[in-house]
Amino acid sequence: MKLELHSDTVSKMSTAPLLMRLVASSVRAADKAAELVRKIMKGGDLGIIDKGGLNNFQTEADRSCERLIRATLSSQYPEVTIIGEEDEKSDSSADAKCGMDEEVLSKECPDYLQNIKQNEVVVWVDPLDGTAEFTQNLLDHVTVLIGIAVNGKAVAGVINQPFYNYKAGPDAKLGRTIWGVIGLGAFGFKRNDLPKDSMIITTTRSHSNKQVNDCIENMTPTEVVRVGGAGNKVLKLIEGKAHAYVFASPGCKKWDTCAPEAILHALGGKLTDVHGNTLHYQADVKVQNTAGVIAACSDHDWYIKKVPQSVKDVLKA
Ligand code: AMP
Ligand code: MG
Ligand code: MG
Repeated sequence: MKLELHSDTVSKMSTAPLLMRLVASSVRAADKAAELVRKIMKGGDLGIIDKGGLNNFQTEADRSCERLIRATLSSQYPEVTIIGEEDEKSDSSADAKCGMDEEVLSKECPDYLQNIKQNEVVVWVDPLDGTAEFTQNLLDHVTVLIGIAVNGKAVAGVINQPFYNYKAGPDAKLGRTIWGVIGLGAFGFKRNDLPKDSMIITTTRSHSNKQVNDCIENMTPTEVVRVGGAGNKVLKLIEGKAHAYVFASPGCKKWDTCAPEAILHALGGKLTDVHGNTLHYQADVKVQNTAGVIAACSDHDWYIKKVPQSVKDVLKA
């Protein structure tokens, strides 16, 4: 079946502000990457490489998704800087024409982003977030992350969860895309109220250490939800399944936080390091979030105040 595009969508593919076109292309690139992740998982050979350190793996899905995302975005936006986790080159044989998402193009670009230029933009790509869990078949922990930073600030992001609904039976639609722009909002998910009689903290399941646990303990949560992926944990926040994401460790990188941060901030939440400092995303920034990550939809300051001084002393900004 051939899908007809609305004529105003076709015109917006060339006339919409750069930021909206870039988000619309990123949604489509992430959709294609998600298809590839599912195909590789179905094929059964994940091609796992140990990158060294604690639970630090790369699979064929990480490599080929990064090549695909680079190819689609760099062919359309050649002056945008793209930084990806796996440092793969773009795949010249990949079908770079994946189009633009119509829903994104139907929305108004916030005023402050109307006139940005390609050379002010850095796109941070985590082609597969939650790889350790992917290799252990914990499929709903996995996300594809494309974060868009303008002049060093995370302003827009796409989180694709390729295996969303995979336990819901063969007829359930597999996968979903969440996207957002600060000043416009975030789309593609259902927001539930957070429970008022509990305090749920979500954190790493495969990269824990003493600081991570000391920090959480000091916040006296009623429940700790240990799941893989920075994208997956921020999804828990925005869906009302956890109050805070607490990771007092230097392991997370800018490609892990850029897209989730932008989406969380588009909803009025906050993601910072353990000192409460804002993260920066310009091309020459240190990629590692050496001072950890604290994120919450509300009461972010309270969690920062609860970070023990001993943890702050270890995690220098
Ligand atoms: P996690 O919450 O453990 O899934 O981590 C979130 C993101 O940070 C994932 O992309 C991890 O690969 C990365 N990460 C966290 N800690 C480490 C670490 N110690 N070594 C390598 N990557 C890490
Ligand atoms: Mg990651
Ligand atoms: Mg990754």
